[in-house]
Amino acid sequence: MAILDIQARDNSSFARAGRLRTAHGDVRTPAFVPLATKATVKGLLPNEVAALGYDMVLGNTFHLLLNPGPELIKSFGGLHRFMGWEAPIITDSGGFQVFSMGHGTIAEEIKGRARHGKGKDREGAILAIREEGVRFRSYVDGRVRLLAPEDSMAIQAALGSDIALVFDECTPFHVDRDYTARSTERTHRWLDRCLTWHSEYGPEGQLVYGIVQGGVYEDLRRASAQFIADSGCEGVAIGGSLGAEKAQMYEVVGFAVEELRGAHEQRPRHLLGIGEVDDLIRGVELGIDTFDCAMPTRLGRHGTALVPDPGTRWRVDLTKGRWREVSDPLLDGCPCPACTQGFSRGYLSYLVRSGELTGMRLLTLHNLTFMAGLMADLREAVIDGRLPEVASALRAGATPSWR
Ligand SMILES: [Zn+2]
Repeated sequence: MAILDIQARDNSSFARAGRLRTAHGDVRTPAFVPLATKATVKGLLPNEVAALGYDMVLGNTFHLLLNPGPELIKSFGGLHRFMGWEAPIITDSGGFQVFSMGHGTIAEEIKGRARHGKGKDREGAILAIREEGVRFRSYVDGRVRLLAPEDSMAIQAALGSDIALVFDECTPFHVDRDYTARSTERTHRWLDRCLTWHSEYGPEGQLVYGIVQGGVYEDLRRASAQFIADSGCEGVAIGGSLGAEKAQMYEVVGFAVEELRGAHEQRPRHLLGIGEVDDLIRGVELGIDTFDCAMPTRLGRHGTALVPDPGTRWRVDLTKGRWREVSDPLLDGCPCPACTQGFSRGYLSYLVRSGELTGMRLLTLHNLTFMAGLMADLREAVIDGRLPEVASALRAGATPSWR
């Protein structure tokens, strides 16, 4: 049976809807995947995450390597058992975090945000990038550690995730074409090492996704997508720098996805670290099946709620004093606890400005409810043959329907 069972396609774009089959059940696609970075979706219980409509979460190999360590998690029966989530889990390779140390604030840069001085050394220090792997200093205990492609796969094997990502160098935006080309070639050699390790020691049923790199360069992206698709990976993730602005990002993702059509159509496609509302809509149109991003949960913890308003990039910042006396709910029609239990924007604003855990929880629940509604609408629209209307309404600020 195909890993991705494509059930419907949109005629006007490359969007598809289906079911991604994993060892712990199906993921309805297209889907957003919330982050359970350190073995928890911060502030929520597993049954709450499932009740919001999510089929899969993403755990973070780098953070779980440093604390509590893969051996401990394995001794509890793997990550599913350890965190009480018996549904699909995807783990990243650790590459993104480890390279974030070496390339400066790559995460900020990739997402187009300004560099903040505060906390930029928090994640420790990268010491050397070599063919064998990456040597870095742990932010937990200061120890020097090596993360090689085989280590990343071994950690993900111990975690027992349903989908493992291969170890790649996440090339940042500021490096030149020559560096990007050499780095992408090394990523391809690392992919071969990951697959060799996995074919011998990988857990039964664990799917492996290769990662397309190549920066913003069309020929490098296309060649990388071809290499990954031909490598025998079950799925393909698109990572690295996608450009300085949205138009370029869509173009770069488009180059990669074009190479994955035809013979490689059945391979599931994941877009790494992208989760803005308009980017998700465009990503679905380009034929992406799954997305992950820290944005909705991170914004929620910092007092920002998602609302259907493209003029504010779909955001309301409740830390601002202007909400103090506003008695309106966050979003009419939203089925989340913050909106259905009658909490006012004024109260939510007070909670987040006071640093109350309840405020972080309510906004996390609201933001993930919003994202789940958005993705469900896009998915249903592909199935019903209405994607053009639905996508344009959502882009213009329609509220998800939560059917
Ligand atoms: Zn809500």
